[in-house]
Amino acid sequence: MGATNYRLCPACVKRDQEKLEALTRQLEATYGKIPLGEWNEIQAKIKHHPSLGETLREDYELGTQVIGTFFVNYRAFCESPECDYDVSYDHAEVLRQI
Ligand SMILES: [Zn+2]
Repeated sequence: MGATNYRLCPACVKRDQEKLEALTRQLEATYGKIPLGEWNEIQAKIKHHPSLGETLREDYELGTQVIGTFFVNYRAFCESPECDYDVSYDHAEVLRQI
């Protein structure tokens, strides 16, 4: 049995949160210190920040082989061109001797 899913990428989510935090710090640090038009531009970047798409592709397969071994093969990688998140997990184990 195998399947493919799409989810939010943990690396993209972390990077996105860091960007928003940096903009928020910039907004707080520049209040009253820069021209209002520039300050409003920073505020607009936060307010109109695009939401992330589900770019993490997960492919997995699991089951029992004819020899009685349970297996799971999992891979997840981000399809965003700016992200290199890529993980995999493979495991096989005899759950019951035949
Ligand atoms: Zn990503």
